[in-house]
Amino acid sequence: MDQSEKRHMETHLLRLGLAGLDESGNAKPELIQQIAAIVNNWQTAPNRHGEWIDKHKFVRDLLAECDASCRNDMYSAIAPHLNFKALPLASYESMITERMGNLISKGAARAEGRAPHPIEVGGKKYAEASASEATHGMATLHCQRCWKKKRFVADTPVGALIAARKAGWARMPEKWTCPGCIKKVEKGKALVN
Ligand SMILES: [Zn+2]
Repeated sequence: MDQSEKRHMETHLLRLGLAGLDESGNAKPELIQQIAAIVNNWQTAPNRHGEWIDKHKFVRDLLAECDASCRNDMYSAIAPHLNFKALPLASYESMITERMGNLISKGAARAEGRAPHPIEVGGKKYAEASASEATHGMATLHCQRCWKKKRFVADTPVGALIAARKAGWARMPEKWTCPGCIKKVEKGKALVN
């Protein structure tokens, strides 16, 4: 599910009166019904990659949002509430794999390998995923002067680097330098001049 679809879904959920998550972060039954209602009312529309998203592809993207380990739970929860016959879970899973393959070939997604712990960036947690499951690109920058380390996340690896530049990081001339060290370098230059 891309950002505009997510927003669309969130707006929908707000309109329906979001039932929310329980204390452990699991979707409450009301939330599942609300999500199912969104899928049921979904009108086929293209996403930002130009792919036409029908109801089955919407389900695919919902399942892609779950960790592979809880996809089965999500599928069993939502399938009975759909007003059309859901495909078998395995079909959605192969659609997920196929979709990620297409995104990766377009340079829209990338994976950095597996890690046992989620990585937190900007208050959000990201699990490192296999290439077939990655939804975001992450850039880990080390300052060449003070070795400060910072991670940036966006929809794509390029987006992550743009975010780093927006946050004041720059290449000097080839290695990344943090905003604090850039200031120091510039002060030094001013003194020399
Ligand atoms: Zn630095």
